[in-house]
Amino acid sequence: MSWEDKLRVVEPYISGEQPKMDHMIKLNTNENPYPASHAIKAALEAITTDKLSIYPNSDAEELRSALAKMWNLDDSQIFIGNGSDEVLSLSFLTFFNGQTPILMPDVTYPFYTTYADLYGIKYKKQPVDDTFHMQLQSYQEENSGIIFCNPCNPTGIVEPLDFIDALLASNSNSIVIIDEAYADFAGQTAIPLLDKYDNLIITRTFSKARSLAGIRLGVALGSPLAISKLYDVKNSFNSYCVDYVAQEVGLASINDQTLVDLNIAKIIATRNWFGKELEKLGFVITDSQTNFVFIQSPLSSAKNLYEKMYEAHIIIRYWDKPRISNWVRITIGTEEEMRNVLAFLAEFIQQEK
Ligand code: PMP
Repeated sequence: MSWEDKLRVVEPYISGEQPKMDHMIKLNTNENPYPASHAIKAALEAITTDKLSIYPNSDAEELRSALAKMWNLDDSQIFIGNGSDEVLSLSFLTFFNGQTPILMPDVTYPFYTTYADLYGIKYKKQPVDDTFHMQLQSYQEENSGIIFCNPCNPTGIVEPLDFIDALLASNSNSIVIIDEAYADFAGQTAIPLLDKYDNLIITRTFSKARSLAGIRLGVALGSPLAISKLYDVKNSFNSYCVDYVAQEVGLASINDQTLVDLNIAKIIATRNWFGKELEKLGFVITDSQTNFVFIQSPLSSAKNLYEKMYEAHIIIRYWDKPRISNWVRITIGTEEEMRNVLAFLAEFIQQEK
């Protein structure tokens, strides 16, 4: 047996590609089309090299306090990592350790199964209904934890708070992780439920609404007890530490909420207009509460649509998966970008007829 045969079998996650070509309209990884503000630029310019020769505050305490204040929580309820993917990865390692499978919807962020496979965690995918909603009864069987995103990536739809409350009430002996990467666009968060459930972990990100995907900042929120378990695992590695530059930029972003809110409003307005135009062209579209739309092509397969758009220098996302194989996800870019996309789609539909 070679050394290679002795390794664990890993299926790498195929991330949305970062195109090498110029002049692409990049609408495949749900980034914000608007840059972060001058306040962020000023924070970067204020960084001096003497701060870079020493280790950063390993628990990002100042940023942690600012976030706690923003959400009306205690500092002990906040954990910060390098992007929410890292926070989720650490959460899987920390919380999902039982004999029974963890549960997740069958249409969800594909990274969850990647982490589970990597860490040897058993999982079971529970079917969503015809409208892509989770079904409460599927989450009432014995489990070692539950994970889902709300709003959901890729469908964009939101499970209401009474559903989440009921799910938590019937799972008080499991950790429930709700990935709220897109909650800033949704006007709904499970944060108020943290008072009621000490087994709830919520993750958030600076990558989407805050225009900071290049900085890598993600957050977990939970009860002081649950969050302390994340610190126990983090500190066993002496790693997973957020660097000084990211901490400073994160703080500047928290202090610059007005611009963040303006960009959110612009993106939502563009999404609503774009969605209506797509419906006029005959596309089926979900009620997305995010910075992307999830649409079903009336005529063509998702792969064909993706390829045709790629040739036209517009990059979107599709999946070769049974339940969603004729759906594509398009990130909301600037209004001008979306006008170009619409013009392309209108012509595409004409040609397909
Ligand atoms: N969760 C969901 C549902 C996402 O779509 C993403 C971004 N692809 C992430 C987490 C990770 O975001 P980040 O690591 O940039 O915080």
